[in-house]
Amino acid sequence: MTTASMFSDSEILEYLQGSNEKELFDKAYRCLAEGLGTTVLYRGLIEISNYCRNNCLYCGIRAGNTSASRYRLDKEEILGCCKRAVESGYGTFVLQGGEDNKHSIEWLENLVKTIHSEYPNHTITLSLGEKSKDDYIRLYEAGARRYLLRHETATRQHYYQLHPDSMSFENRMECLRNLKEIGYETGAGMMIGSPYQTYNHLLSDLRFLENFQPDMVGVGPFINADNTPFSDYTNTLLAPDDEASIRLTLRVIALVRLLVPKANIPATTALFTLGKSITMDECVKAGANVRMFNVSPEDAKEKYNIYNGKSDGK
Ligand code: SAM
Repeated sequence: MTTASMFSDSEILEYLQGSNEKELFDKAYRCLAEGLGTTVLYRGLIEISNYCRNNCLYCGIRAGNTSASRYRLDKEEILGCCKRAVESGYGTFVLQGGEDNKHSIEWLENLVKTIHSEYPNHTITLSLGEKSKDDYIRLYEAGARRYLLRHETATRQHYYQLHPDSMSFENRMECLRNLKEIGYETGAGMMIGSPYQTYNHLLSDLRFLENFQPDMVGVGPFINADNTPFSDYTNTLLAPDDEASIRLTLRVIALVRLLVPKANIPATTALFTLGKSITMDECVKAGANVRMFNVSPEDAKEKYNIYNGKSDGK
């Protein structure tokens, strides 16, 4: 049985377009305060590799970007990042990377087991893209408990405007269902102002999230990445300039908070990259409750250029 949504489609579309923004933010903040509480949760982000076999059209580390300077952290370097995260007081390690062909499941399994045995009271979150259900199970059994895999867009046709035909919308969705079934705290999400995105696409994304009820939702602005097919793209409808993109991202965060009340929602690095003066307090007032700090080595931070000008979250 599905319960009725708190918002009709037309109410969501009006909020997305900026009607009653203050009312929306107030509702979202109240929902956060009464549900999870307004204490911000901190995570240590470790960017383990920028090699990727995929060719997402928007992403600076896509395989086809031959100008990208590639790196891959070894196990000792990753353990050094975990140590830095622990010293900074972060209770969760988020290991993110491209879909690196050199990362065999055995290697990843061993890495997760080692981190888990050295830091049994810390939570291991992975964000390493699409894998088989068996591989997800092996990583769960090794000690990973959360997995972030943005759905990117819930509209099939839009998915193929953002990804090559060699990638699969159905597989992305299947991966998300598998992760949830295995028992991971599962994260979905999408970029705001991505190429060709419309308000109706965002409405479909919000309905997908409402129905799927992920444990985490990552929502951040699309930012141009050099040497990609969308390096000069502007979504003139949704995000004609940085300020519009930031406001829309905050409104989407607020709507996600209300439709998926128990989700942990980060104020993303992309949001802080685009909005140099935006504060965590403003993001909390819109319903966000998580902040990620990049604990990768400086050289890796510089090379993990998924979009231009990436901030390290500070
Ligand atoms: N490979 C993993 C995956 O596919 O989930 C994790 C790495 S991927 C680079 C992490 C996220 O970066 C993607 O889900 C995407 O939404 C975001 N991203 C990539 N390019 C971006 C861009 N140009 N602007 C904003 N976000 C971007």
